Amino acid sequence: MTAGVRLTNVKKSFGAADVIHDVSMEIPKGDFAVFVGPSGCGKSTLLRMIAGLEDTSGGRIEIEGDDVTDEEAADRGVAMVFQNYALYPHLSVFENMAFSLRLARAPKATVKEKVEEAARILQLTDHLDKKPSALSGGQRQRVAIGRAIVREPKVFLFDEPLSNLDAELRVAMRLELARLHRQIGATMIYVTHDQVEAMTLADDIFVLKSGVVQQAGTPLSLYDDPDNRFVAGFIGSPS
Ligand code: ADP
Ligand code: MG
Repeated sequence: MTAGVRLTNVKKSFGAADVIHDVSMEIPKGDFAVFVGPSGCGKSTLLRMIAGLEDTSGGRIEIEGDDVTDEEAADRGVAMVFQNYALYPHLSVFENMAFSLRLARAPKATVKEKVEEAARILQLTDHLDKKPSALSGGQRQRVAIGRAIVREPKVFLFDEPLSNLDAELRVAMRLELARLHRQIGATMIYVTHDQVEAMTLADDIFVLKSGVVQQAGTPLSLYDDPDNRFVAGFIGSPS
């Protein structure tokens, strides 16, 4: 079966600092994968390499069987959702979501159709004419997700998208993301330092420490059978 995302011996150095050591992994198509680990362990760097926002220092990245290691970000069929939303304050919700389609010179009717469909999925239909400043934090986060959805990517990449939200909203958004994944069925990779988020969202968890995958598996398998004390401590099981 073709993997959604396959990494083979991926490495990254910044000058003399080896940040990602030798990461190989296979994420099944349609999987909700979570990279979890403490701050500075290399989660964002790994995600940015998959997105094509950062060159690799070695290794290969494949998306649905295509070697994209040397492809531009825009040609990879991936879409990244950032922590800080990165919305255009002067544009409406509709135009924020339409932005990448307009850049790609999509026909007007297509833009309308795709934005309205994304708005329906994200329950933003009543907010399309508003500016981001008129929205709540959760709604802004949904717009950021909507900008990714309209591009119909093979892989969604989320870098700690909920870390700016308060605890209550985080829980609500977690449920929304799970629903979104069920509805869209695309491969999703979600980065977080929050164990609870990882355990509740993931089909498969990859635990990172210092640029090395310590263990990969389902939440239950990591909890029941951690390979080492780091994983046990991080996932929160007693061994
Ligand atoms: P995480 O997302 O897990 O917190 P990062 O991937 O952001 O970790 O960072 C991993 C390591 O790489 C950190 O030590 C960080 O300081 C370093 N790093 C990240 N980006 C750069 C960069 N552009 N230049 C130099 N060092 C970087
Ligand atoms: Mg990070």
